[in-house]
Amino acid sequence: MSETHVIVGAGQAGGWAAVAMREAGFTGRILLLGDEPYRPYERPPLSKTVLTAAAEPPVSWFHTEARTAQLEIEPLLGAAVTALDVAGRRVGLADGREIGWDKLLLATGGRARRLAVPGGERALVLRTLDDARAIRARLAGARRVVCIGAGVIGLEIAASARARGALVTVLEAAERPMGRCVSAEGAAFVARLHRDNGVDLRCGVAVAAIEARGDGTEVVLCSDGTALPADLVVAGVGMERNLALAEAAGLTIDGGVVVDALTRTSAADVFAAGDLAAFPHPLFGRLRLESWRHAQNHGIAAGRAMAGAGAPYDDVPWFWTDQFGVNVQVAGLPALATRTVVRVDAPPVFVAVHLAADGQVVGVTAANAPREIRAGMALIRAGQPVDAALVADAGVALQGLLAAR
Ligand SMILES: Cc1cc2nc3c(=O)[nH]c(=O)nc-3n(C[C@H](O)[C@H](O)[C@H](O)COP(=O)(O)OP(=O)(O)OC[C@H]3O[C@@H](n4cnc5c(N)ncnc54)[C@H](O)[C@@H]3O)c2cc1C
Repeated sequence: MSETHVIVGAGQAGGWAAVAMREAGFTGRILLLGDEPYRPYERPPLSKTVLTAAAEPPVSWFHTEARTAQLEIEPLLGAAVTALDVAGRRVGLADGREIGWDKLLLATGGRARRLAVPGGERALVLRTLDDARAIRARLAGARRVVCIGAGVIGLEIAASARARGALVTVLEAAERPMGRCVSAEGAAFVARLHRDNGVDLRCGVAVAAIEARGDGTEVVLCSDGTALPADLVVAGVGMERNLALAEAAGLTIDGGVVVDALTRTSAADVFAAGDLAAFPHPLFGRLRLESWRHAQNHGIAAGRAMAGAGAPYDDVPWFWTDQFGVNVQVAGLPALATRTVVRVDAPPVFVAVHLAADGQVVGVTAANAPREIRAGMALIRAGQPVDAALVADAGVALQGLLAAR
């Protein structure tokens, strides 16, 4: 009898897993269950063009309906999975339906974290298309926008709000923006980019409360005693993984659902992928990522593994962000570096290479310099020490360092 593979979460990882599983030769049923009412779509435009374009741009679907049908992938949308029975190999839906599976993929990603201060619910958050549409609608009439959190999403919203002509203040509790994903030098570049474009970026300022003013506007009360009136308050304070099903089913969890190099969880025939997963990386140890490329490639890896055609996953971490027309890309993990060598700091171009104590390249941060990222990724993969003096010389091609080994 033919097998049924159920995917929980019709996001980027789930959508790609379904396609990859079929393309790898799985001939049974593929059910793609998602609680959003949409088939898998791209989230990166949500904080960018969806907020800035004069007319809302069309949704960027990962796969057309025709392709989904051709591959005989059965999407079941608006279907929240509320129960997972690993021993009985069933999932339960919010509407009471039960679905059996032979193999299961958890690709439930994450949700936007809410701001945990009095009135925090007044701040809009951004994870889904519906969230983006709500922010877009409010931005239309907003003169003063306060963005809480200077992570990637908060800064992209800030840049988009500026592009719409709003006066924008960004409040960040830490001492620098994008703290989790770039070095101090990269953070300084990004901070300057925002300030040069008129954003009032305030670091080291925590939000104490958000109060309604009765006229539809809000006031953001800060720990330093300042009060900021706003027509729109948005919080970009990170995401929380949707771990409830995995936790209730007793799967091993370490911040994310723990998987091996073939995306297998601690339970037989249960896989996990994308933002949800904590996976082993051959260079960097156990990682959890929140990025487009990882969601896609890890989803594909899971789909292939479920079709019996798996291979160890070893993708180098990579993400990009677009702010004020500047494309910033980060490869590897700058946080692991003991030393950062700035090769170019000539706005809007910036290139920094992040080195471990033994001289290995563990990360590259580059603005408007995609070739440096490509070369940097090859260096990261090579795992060989490089000469910091050569790295610092912008006249020496990074690619050349690889060839010279
Ligand atoms: C606004 C925004 C902008 C971004 N921009 C960039 C960028 O510029 N560059 C970059 O590299 N990355 C970017 N990212 C990150 C990237 O989009 C994510 O890493 C990626 O979407 C993760 O995919 P995923 O499939 O793992 O999880 P998700 O996209 O979170 O998908 C999971 C899906 O599962 C659903 N689900 C959860 N629980 C259940 C349940 N119990 N039952 C059924 N369905 C469930 C969720 O509703 C969701 O639809 C951005 C993310 C956001 C939110």
